[in-house]
Amino acid sequence: MYLAVDDTDSRDGMCTTYLLAKMISEMPFDLIGLPRLVRLNPAVPWKTRGNGALTMRVGVGGGEPRTIGEGDGEIRCHPRLRREVSAEEVMDWALPYVGEYMQAGSNPGIVVSRTKPPQRLYWQGAREILPIEDTAAVLDGMGALRHGEGDGRGIVGAACAMAWRPRDRSLELLAYREEQRWGSVRRLEISSVERLDAMYPSTFNNIERRWMKAAIMPSTPCPVLYGIRGEDLSDLIAAKGTLEAEQPAIWLIFLTNQGSDDHVIEDAAELLPNRSYRLSLTISSLSRDEKGGHVIIRARRGDEELECAAYEPSKEFRNLIRLLRPGDEIDAIGELREEPRTLNLEKVLVKRLADSLLKAGNPRCPRCGRAAKSVGKGAGYRCRPCSVHLPEDAAPRSPEPRLVVPGWYEPPVCSRRHLSKPLCRMGETQPLDFV
Ligand code: ATP
Repeated sequence: MYLAVDDTDSRDGMCTTYLLAKMISEMPFDLIGLPRLVRLNPAVPWKTRGNGALTMRVGVGGGEPRTIGEGDGEIRCHPRLRREVSAEEVMDWALPYVGEYMQAGSNPGIVVSRTKPPQRLYWQGAREILPIEDTAAVLDGMGALRHGEGDGRGIVGAACAMAWRPRDRSLELLAYREEQRWGSVRRLEISSVERLDAMYPSTFNNIERRWMKAAIMPSTPCPVLYGIRGEDLSDLIAAKGTLEAEQPAIWLIFLTNQGSDDHVIEDAAELLPNRSYRLSLTISSLSRDEKGGHVIIRARRGDEELECAAYEPSKEFRNLIRLLRPGDEIDAIGELREEPRTLNLEKVLVKRLADSLLKAGNPRCPRCGRAAKSVGKGAGYRCRPCSVHLPEDAAPRSPEPRLVVPGWYEPPVCSRRHLSKPLCRMGETQPLDFV
């Protein structure tokens, strides 16, 4: 039986992944395969944090189980289902957990089903905005059990997560704190994170080297102690063993769509807000720095001109945008905001650099040969003794040495989206580092 949950947490605490880990550690059923943490459209306006929903398969397991976590005892999953359990039994068991852990203002949804919803639901959930009624109709059509609290929105994330058939997938080992420690300062030795990062190349997004910040450790008061992301289950367990940190109460490995770029719509004819796109663009302005540290640049796609933004948290990534010039050709991946309508940049491929010319001094007066003086910004030049006016473009120009080279660029670890595919997973390295 497949079970999925979403939307039990609030910004003040809890985490739906913890709810699932707690359920699994006390479960009367066998776990079939890994539990799944499925990230959905990062642009949905009503997400709490990372728009993650959770799903797992339960029943009577067959085959040799393997260890994927630890709570009061080992947490193990079976490679296949031997016997199905009843949907009602699973729902009756799950409901009290949601009742106990749901936070004020959340809209939990639980879905239980013998079969998965159609795959298109996952892609819509990862890329678009889905109405609750449409999702409910799909679930009812397939005979799934569903339960929603509050406005019932949680069933959308739950159903979309259940519909995921992994195309690209990664793993995350999540470790949770003892309940009495929630909200207090976490103990995690940064040097041990640095060591982990060097020792296990199959892990990613571990550390922000520039500031020696542990990207694996959240800063919110939630139950998570750390989350190690990677490609290999055994490496994750070994990597956990190298960390110098407070003892986790529970740890568990999830299969995830993190780092897959599944949220990115390619070749879109029409651009709608609250979705993420990969767009081929030609830069049409110099960048401008805005209050708050955001850097904005304009770019053209056919007849349409768009503002692209590198926000303050993207730190040195903003320097790439500052170095772009009109005529440069890029592919931009980013979320299209509704208001202001800007493309919030997540990753940029610089494809071709334009020849950029810089002003090299003032023009000479055609009569006397002396350098003319500027009349004001954009207003041209004048030779006062000869009463000659020269237009702005009369100034001599020379090629600007370009300080950027073609290639892929991404923001630092801490400002990446969960779904953004890091360059290391694309087999790419950024050609330049900005300071
Ligand atoms: P956390 O990451 O901390 O678990 P969250 O960011 O996942 O929290 P939720 O509290 O789960 O946030 O809220 C997201 C809500 O948006 C859920 O109710 C979910 O069902 C709904 N939702 C998710 N994706 C979509 C979508 N594509 N269209 C419409 N609603 C969605």
